[in-house]
Amino acid sequence: MKLSLKNLILFVALLSVILTMFSSTSSGYRMSQQTLIENTLETNRVYAQKLANTTDVFFKMMLKMLEESSNDFSPYMEREDKNAKSMLLLEADHLKHLTNAFNSVVIVAADGEVLATSPQTIDLLGKYLDSEGGLQALNERKPFVSKPYLSMTGRLIIFISHPVFAADGDYLGLVGGSIYLKEDNILYEILGEHFYKDDSYVYVVDEDGRILYHQDQQRINDQVQQNPVVAQLMNKQSGAARVTNTKDVDMLAGYAYIPTVEWGVVSQRSADAALAPATDMMNEMMLKSLPYLLISLVLISFISKLIAQPLQNLARVTESSTENNQNENMKDIRAWYYEAIQLKKAVMYSLGFLHEKVDSITHQSKTDPLTKLTNRRTLDEQTIKWVEDDTAFSIVLLDIDHFKRVNDTYGHAIGDEVLKFLAQQMREVTRKEDVCCRYGGEEFVLLLKDMNETEAYHVAEKLRTTVENSVSPSGDKITLSAGIASYPATASNLTELFNKADEYLYEAKKTGRNRCISGSVSGSALGSKVTNVAGGTY
Ligand code: GH3
Ligand code: MG
Ligand code: MG
Repeated sequence: MKLSLKNLILFVALLSVILTMFSSTSSGYRMSQQTLIENTLETNRVYAQKLANTTDVFFKMMLKMLEESSNDFSPYMEREDKNAKSMLLLEADHLKHLTNAFNSVVIVAADGEVLATSPQTIDLLGKYLDSEGGLQALNERKPFVSKPYLSMTGRLIIFISHPVFAADGDYLGLVGGSIYLKEDNILYEILGEHFYKDDSYVYVVDEDGRILYHQDQQRINDQVQQNPVVAQLMNKQSGAARVTNTKDVDMLAGYAYIPTVEWGVVSQRSADAALAPATDMMNEMMLKSLPYLLISLVLISFISKLIAQPLQNLARVTESSTENNQNENMKDIRAWYYEAIQLKKAVMYSLGFLHEKVDSITHQSKTDPLTKLTNRRTLDEQTIKWVEDDTAFSIVLLDIDHFKRVNDTYGHAIGDEVLKFLAQQMREVTRKEDVCCRYGGEEFVLLLKDMNETEAYHVAEKLRTTVENSVSPSGDKITLSAGIASYPATASNLTELFNKADEYLYEAKKTGRNRCISGSVSGSALGSKVTNVAGGTY
């Protein structure tokens, strides 16, 4: 592409359009990214908090229920009769079915003996409790939620229990329910189907950073305390953060602490999924701005052409201006803004000035300053041209007679005037197509186009007689002598032509001056003498 003004304007304008579009799209993209991140973090924080509150309320309710139940059945724990035992079984069943929260319910005596279970199929009746959570609960003698542990039946469970006291305050044992972490349980119902259907999810950790609930059950019981969000939860903190999870995925997580059980809920979504709408938005923005880009392109190219055209035209015309005067073409250039108008004016002025100067110098180089006749250089050019063009012509070589005397008698200035006077006479006897030339000093040449020697002779004679019969600026009359030769009739080249004319001029001087001599004819003021080339007299 040619580096022209139009292309440069086009390039700059396009660059600015593209940069503007790019910067507005990318800042829009960054802003929407920021908003999406903030919104996702906030949504997850609120959601995690809601789940934490619900879970907290659930455990409080469970403990309350166990407490109320224990108050109801504590009298039966002190009795050894069959009836009391079956009442305890009924109570265990009742608790199990009332909430459907526990996978199993046990009533245990203070020494650890299992007094009742529901369902009864778990086959613990009469055995002594030796599970980690159970023994801890017996020791603690207070409302208790265990850490996850492997039960006697080999399941990963948590155990929620409440102590049972007699009316007089004696410790009688406990009533507890277990939740099987890796099977369907109440946590699944509370935490439920997470409301996002995409790749966001919820998980619950205990105070040691161990996973208690996860949509992927394989991950339950995994230790994830190195996760920064879990570390926060272990510090009993709630909030939201952008973190890289244990599987190296960039996540936007909200987290909330559950005080009753000292657990934490994390609700999170991958940053990629959350930011997808920003990418979609950017693509859409690009697509929608495409027509505007195309319209801008057309407009820019039109305007840049409009701006560049006057300068382009000025440049084009100026380029060819040395060949001829282009001011006429320049006038037609429509310059419509300040710089172009000024430039056009300046160029027109400079070109006009330049051409005037060139014309004047050309004229000077071709002209004799005194007589304003053409000079010898022009004579040479003209004769060479005519020879090249095969144009026939004759020359009259003439010399003022005794000119030295004019100078000597009247002074050089008058001599000059006499030369001018002769030049004027030469002009008068010749046609437009002829050339009058000052050959040097007081010698002159007439180039007579398409004239044969005889015709040229007559012109020379006319000049001679006119001069002879005029009064020159000196106040005296002057005379001249001339030699005439013709191309190609009497001379086949220019040297021969001038030599011949010179020869006849010399002849004229020698034979008395004030006469014209050619190859075929000669004449003088004395009249009738006709001379041939050889100088013979007729
Ligand atoms: P002839 O008849 O033999 O030609 O005699 P002439 O005196 O003309 O002789 P010549 O050609 O030797 O002299 C030419 C003189 O013309 C010499 C010179 O002083 C004079 N001359 C040459 N150029 C100029 C000029 O530009 N102005 C003036 N005033 N005189 C010039
Ligand atoms: Mg002379
Ligand atoms: Mg002379």
